[in-house]
Amino acid sequence: MAPLVVASGLEKHFPVTRRLGEVLRGERPVSRAVDGIDLTIGEGETVGLLGESGCGKTTTGRLLLKLTRPTAGTIRFDGGDLADLAGAALKRFRREVQLVFQNPFDAINPRFTVFRALREPLQNAGVPKEEHPERMRVAMHRVRLPDVEGYYDRYPHQLSGGQLQRVVLARALVLEPRFIVADEPVSMLDVSVRAGILNVMRDVHATMGLTAVYISHDFALVRYVCARTVVMYLGKMVEDGPSAEVVARPLHPYTRALVQAVPVPRVDQSREPLPIKGSLSAAQAQVGGCRFRDRCPYAFARCADEEPPMREVAPGHRAACHLL
Ligand code: SF4
Repeated sequence: MAPLVVASGLEKHFPVTRRLGEVLRGERPVSRAVDGIDLTIGEGETVGLLGESGCGKTTTGRLLLKLTRPTAGTIRFDGGDLADLAGAALKRFRREVQLVFQNPFDAINPRFTVFRALREPLQNAGVPKEEHPERMRVAMHRVRLPDVEGYYDRYPHQLSGGQLQRVVLARALVLEPRFIVADEPVSMLDVSVRAGILNVMRDVHATMGLTAVYISHDFALVRYVCARTVVMYLGKMVEDGPSAEVVARPLHPYTRALVQAVPVPRVDQSREPLPIKGSLSAAQAQVGGCRFRDRCPYAFARCADEEPPMREVAPGHRAACHLL
């Protein structure tokens, strides 16, 4: 499939509060939220970005949508460098990409009816008024919401969390985007309504051929919706492969720990859970070598000295570990 999004050497650093010693030495410490991501996403591909809170997946998603500027590296969308986009080209890009928010109650203005929530992006993008009803009808149909007059008059407080998240999704789809990033799209919803939303997402990909990145800490969600899974740890990609392969045969010790932490069908449950230790926040102080080494049960001397590169172990399945 032709590449739609190509990120190369992507980095995003944030300044952190300096301690007294660092101020005196004139040091400016940074948090490396994203630290060297190379990621190519094909047209129509669904990619799950997976990892614990603080691993850099949300920042990566925002970089891909040009919602924040990279510290280093480039992102190309449909062949064009995002850094060069301005004027009409930037406006077109904003129409072609959409972000689906985590919390549907924050995503929609509480004073907006469903009609107004769907009309706003069309107006902002300059879509002719006569096209609005048909575009809204199609978007409502795609997320399986009733396309009836009374429904368009409802306010967010008159909808359930699941219905509101469908409206959020319809609002993202009403401009017929080519690429969406969905950040923990069902994490705020009741477990009982999650399956319905996930089915809608799968249908949307099947019917629209949409390219998408799903950001989540939930392996089951990513496997259900995404054909490909990318696992991140402390700003780095540590594994990348077909979702079914990554779940059935995880290569990286961190991925294995994630897989064994959730009840996913067809995972080899005979293996003992890895004795993964410590927390992500404690691990952030590490510099150089493999970032997972303090938590890895297999760490050896080389892991502290040398950063493991991504290696292809099976077709389309890569991971970064010296043991591979
Ligand atoms: Fe563990 Fe070393 Fe592999 Fe890192 S490189 S995951 S520390 S064995």
